[in-house]
Amino acid sequence: MKERLFTAGPVAMFPDTLYIGGQQSPYFRTEEFSRTVLETESWMCALAGAPAESRMVLLTCSGSGAMEAAVLNAVGPGDRVLIIVGGDFGQRFCDICTVHGIAFDAIRLSPGHTMAAEQIESLALENYHALLVNAHETSTGVLYDLMRLGQACARAGTLFIVDAVSSFLCDPIHMQQMSIDTLITSSQKALALEPGLSLLLLGPRSIALARAGKVQSHYFALNRYLADGQRGQTPFTPAVTVVLQLHQRARSLVTAGARLETTRCAQLAHHFRASLNGLPLRMFPDLPSNALTALQPTDGCSAFEIFQQLRSRFGLVVTPNGGSLKHTLFRVGHMGNLSHADLDQLSDALKEIMQ
Ligand SMILES: *Cc1c(COP(=O)(O)O)cnc(C)c1O
Repeated sequence: MKERLFTAGPVAMFPDTLYIGGQQSPYFRTEEFSRTVLETESWMCALAGAPAESRMVLLTCSGSGAMEAAVLNAVGPGDRVLIIVGGDFGQRFCDICTVHGIAFDAIRLSPGHTMAAEQIESLALENYHALLVNAHETSTGVLYDLMRLGQACARAGTLFIVDAVSSFLCDPIHMQQMSIDTLITSSQKALALEPGLSLLLLGPRSIALARAGKVQSHYFALNRYLADGQRGQTPFTPAVTVVLQLHQRARSLVTAGARLETTRCAQLAHHFRASLNGLPLRMFPDLPSNALTALQPTDGCSAFEIFQQLRSRFGLVVTPNGGSLKHTLFRVGHMGNLSHADLDQLSDALKEIMQ
């Protein structure tokens, strides 16, 4: 049975991406590859609404590596950071800070709840060097109000570091309008490429910090990436084929208009959520991202059991949760090469299982 992916990543890829994946990786210390990287940088900055003078850094690692690099290069000795923790990915920022001895405070939200406006306004951001947030907390599907958080950071002069790995292209994100200094994303989510490539988009303040910093890391010292990146190169071997896939994907997204993919994703999410009417499923987050729909069975069914049945009986792969939410939640992705018909197939299967 051919499986259909409604996952949180890797997601269903587009034919152009798959085609590039089947080709020989070229040697990369060449003029052509440099040009490809520089073009990709300008397109990615445009897609993210990055301010003038922003830079892209390509890292050969998964999104968590890019989270670590973003933090290490922005934070110096004595700096204290604030982390919004609504689930596993917020906790990951805490774990990164703990490992590196970075002082932090965490705002712990109950799972599935976003931060209310008054809660954001009451953050004492002036006490912190940086605010770290996952735009979309993928473990529960909840979206945060980046615009309001960014405005609060701007007022306080606090650096705003946003993990948009699962939100980029799905939810509206504009670095300049939202005062985002570092935006983190990764190949295997809505970019719908193979896993293995992550990217950081750095605004002027983050660039200055990365240049000045004496980072306690060899691989993640971004000043080297910034220097080599000026001529479209990287200090170490990049995920060459994934870079070529990114180049093709960024070009087609820029050509179509940056907002089109976000609208497409929003429509898929809306269509799918409407099709669940009457099923014993509760939308878990109070403010959902367009990237996925996190659902809680209300009839006592195990969410993990539903995941297993969808896969074994129908070849439809949704995303199970782990840990304490294993039997409570499953997540349906709307990222990548999916159509309304694919999501209809999934809601029909859910009806068969649950009714
Ligand atoms: C997927 C994801 C990451 C990266 O996870 P990796 O397993 O390292 O690729 C980081 N943040 C969020 C919010 C994610 O959804």
